[in-house]
Amino acid sequence: MTETALFTDNFYILDDGRVRQFLVTGEEDALLIDTGFEDSHVCEAVRKITDLPVKVILTHGDRDHAGGLKDFGECYLHKGDWHLIQDGVRLKPLSEGDVFECGGYRFETIEIPGHTYGSVAFFDREKRLLLPGDSVQKAGPIYMFGEHRNLELYIRSQKKLLSLADQADTIIPCHHEYPIGPEYIGRNLEDAEALKNGELKGEKHPVMPCFSCKGKWTEFYYE
Ligand SMILES: [Zn+2]
Repeated sequence: MTETALFTDNFYILDDGRVRQFLVTGEEDALLIDTGFEDSHVCEAVRKITDLPVKVILTHGDRDHAGGLKDFGECYLHKGDWHLIQDGVRLKPLSEGDVFECGGYRFETIEIPGHTYGSVAFFDREKRLLLPGDSVQKAGPIYMFGEHRNLELYIRSQKKLLSLADQADTIIPCHHEYPIGPEYIGRNLEDAEALKNGELKGEKHPVMPCFSCKGKWTEFYYE
C-alpha cells in the first residue's frame, strides 16, 4: 500500500515502505519520478492526488523503480537501462542536461552510471534539492551486485556528484532514511573506494546471491 505525503510546495513523496517515488504537481501537468514496484499500484496513489496528465521520468530501470510503468504507458529513461524495461512501454531518451520543469521546480538530469548503466540524478539547483535514485543513501544497502552494475563507474559518478555537493542542501534517496545531507555523497564514495580496494570484509547474504560489505558509513551488496 503506497502512502502519500506532501513534503514541500507541490512536491509529494509516495512510499510503500520499500521504495519511494516523487510527484510534482503543476498548473497543467504533473511530473512523476519513478513508478515503484508493480504491486505497489503507484498510478492509483497518483490519481488520488491529481487528475492532470502525468509525465514520467525514471532515476533508473530497476524493477522497484520501473515496475509501475505499464500503467502510464511511456517514460523518459536513460538508454543505458532500456534493456531492463518490460515490453509495451514507450521509452523516450533521457540524457545529461535534460530539464523537466513543473510546479515551480526545475529538475536537471545528471548522468551517474554505476548502480545501473542508465542511472541519473535529478537536481534542482535553485531549491538545492537532489534526487539521486539509489546512488546516494544514508547507510544503504546500496545494490552493487549483478551484471548491470559497475563499481568503477559508480565511484566516478560519486565524484561527479561530490563536485555539486556544495550546491545541495537536501538529498532524498529512494530507499531508507530521508532527507539526508550532502555529506553522504562523500561518505558513500569513501566506502565505495574501500570496497573496490578490497578493504571491506564481506559476509554472505542469507538469501540473495551477494555479500554484505559494510564500510564506515555505507553497506554495499556486492559479489
Ligand atoms: Zn531501488
